[in-house]
Amino acid sequence: MDKKFCLDLTLDDLKRWCDDNSVQSFRAKQIYGWLSSGVTDTAEMTNVPKDLRYKLEQDFIMGRMRVIEKYVSAIDGTTKFVYLLHDGNIIETVVMRYKTGLSVCISSQAGCKMGCAFCASAKAGFGRSLTSGELLAQVLVSQREMGEKIRSVVVMGIGEPFDNYGNLLGFIKLVTDPDGAGLGARHITVSTCGLVPKINEFADLGSQVNLAVSLHAPNDDIRLKIMPVARSYPMEELLEACRRYTEKTGRRITFEYSLFAGVNDSLECADELAGRLKGMLCHVNLIAANEFPGSEFKRSPSGRVAAFRKRLEELRINATLRREMGTDIMAACGQLRRGIEGSDV
Ligand code: SF4
Repeated sequence: MDKKFCLDLTLDDLKRWCDDNSVQSFRAKQIYGWLSSGVTDTAEMTNVPKDLRYKLEQDFIMGRMRVIEKYVSAIDGTTKFVYLLHDGNIIETVVMRYKTGLSVCISSQAGCKMGCAFCASAKAGFGRSLTSGELLAQVLVSQREMGEKIRSVVVMGIGEPFDNYGNLLGFIKLVTDPDGAGLGARHITVSTCGLVPKINEFADLGSQVNLAVSLHAPNDDIRLKIMPVARSYPMEELLEACRRYTEKTGRRITFEYSLFAGVNDSLECADELAGRLKGMLCHVNLIAANEFPGSEFKRSPSGRVAAFRKRLEELRINATLRREMGTDIMAACGQLRRGIEGSDV
């Protein structure tokens, strides 16, 4: 049987492991305490006996997810961590500082299958989905590196979280565990490019976790040009699922809309978008698209972005412009990349 990564373990898993190995049950909580504070290297688990640390190493993948590079933005202090996973895959995680405290943007997969035309993450292909513990590690290890508590998590980095649904739910369970990381569900946001069946499943959970949907277009014609997912899930179906989500959960949904010059940033687009979203419990988060080397898309000029927002507001659609963070270290939306150890992918 493949070894599990230590942060995939719940407290119950550890209790069972202790039972199976005739280890006193209080050790489970002790080990879980270390793991929940981001300590995955047994050498640092100073109150755990040596033979038990050895046994942990035999049975689980310990301490094998580490930061190999760190970049700090000179503009706003946004910090990007590059993580090496135990099998050589490389992912990126970004920590941003807001008035409310630190927020971390984590990756859900090494690479992405969704192929959005404007996204650097799609360019390097797909490696694999991350386990729930690898999602959690990005929160806990980044927190440790920052020396400060992470207040909120957005699952908006590399990958499509709903394409890794089981592990996403496992992660939410782990990160909200009051005996563990103890983050409130309302402080977590999951972002999808629009996998309708999973939006429906997620709605049925009645979870307090926030949902963001990457729309980036007011109609299928434009959406099809930039997001292949629109072939499987046309806009009407997608918006129907979003409406159902708001009705089932009573929670507001966020639509992400990146503005690309000459593609989706006209006032006609704003009018059409407002018409589609009318009456929905929603909020539009506008993003002045971030460029990356090799990208065919150009960011919308700031005047256009402002006009687009103004038009939405005139049409009574709540819209904000997302503050750009970490653009100088390629840490902003759509700029994250996957890699493999020893390659320059
Ligand atoms: S925008 Fe998101 S879903 Fe689309 S390719 Fe990039 S990571 Fe994948």
